[in-house]
Amino acid sequence: MAKWGMVIDITKCNGCYNCFIACKDEYWDNDYPPYSAAQPRHGQAWIDLVKKERGVCPWIRVAYIPVLCMQCDNAPCVKAAKNRAVYKRPDGIVIIDPKKAVGQRQIVDACPYHAIFWNEEKQLPQKCTFCVQRLEQGKIPKCVQVCPSRAFVFGDLADPKSEVSRIVASKKAEAPKPGSRAKSRVYYIGVPKLFIAGSVVDAKSDECAEGVSVSLTKQSTGKSTGTSTNNFGDFEFDGLGTGKYSVKFECKGYKPRTVNVDLKTDKHLGVVKLTKRS
Ligand code: SF4
Ligand code: SF4
Repeated sequence: MAKWGMVIDITKCNGCYNCFIACKDEYWDNDYPPYSAAQPRHGQAWIDLVKKERGVCPWIRVAYIPVLCMQCDNAPCVKAAKNRAVYKRPDGIVIIDPKKAVGQRQIVDACPYHAIFWNEEKQLPQKCTFCVQRLEQGKIPKCVQVCPSRAFVFGDLADPKSEVSRIVASKKAEAPKPGSRAKSRVYYIGVPKLFIAGSVVDAKSDECAEGVSVSLTKQSTGKSTGTSTNNFGDFEFDGLGTGKYSVKFECKGYKPRTVNVDLKTDKHLGVVKLTKRS
């Protein structure tokens, strides 16, 4: 039997909200018994986008993180429900029973990802079902179908040859942190971390210095990585953790230069000037 899972590549998401709108289209005013009751027109986002901004002018990075029910294997919402009102299907999908869950507001508070919404009119907790009614017809979830950027990879985690399994096995994707003991079946690529960036110029002419070799060394481990400046003299190392780093600039005919950074938040070094050897 398939065990459904999803990988979301944050670097591909452009924040178009197609997935959000498609989810509304599928669920607003539509009941899918016994899996879900109709979503209200306002106030619920079974898939939502969390906007994450990093850095300050002139170097800003913006990411949109699609957030939905993680279909946890050790789901706190299942434990919080009375009368088995929330249950996990053999295919991994967590369902809130739209009849049994009436009046059980504590289910909303149990989710560490804030993926459950309270329907005031129906007195019902509601959330994403991975579009189980579509899966049963051999279709893929609506959000996956409509994403123009192909940010979602959906498939069978029990099949080691499926694309979703291969990405998870490659360790390129990571499970979300809060509530990680919940054992998410949704993974992310490109979770925003920290960056060090800057611009390199010739000290005398102030011209952008293209092709400067820039190496980054984490002082605690000695591990290094490298890049070179582009035609604007810009460089960037992204995906970093906190800690102390050395950034070394080298270019033929110029004196090498090293800048030390104690990285606690995203850092733009400003303009780094290289001086010609005499
Ligand atoms: S993400 Fe929240 S709603 Fe979904 S299974 Fe996990 S605890 Fe339940
Ligand atoms: S449809 Fe795709 S690109 Fe658009 S917001 Fe959703 S995940 Fe991002």
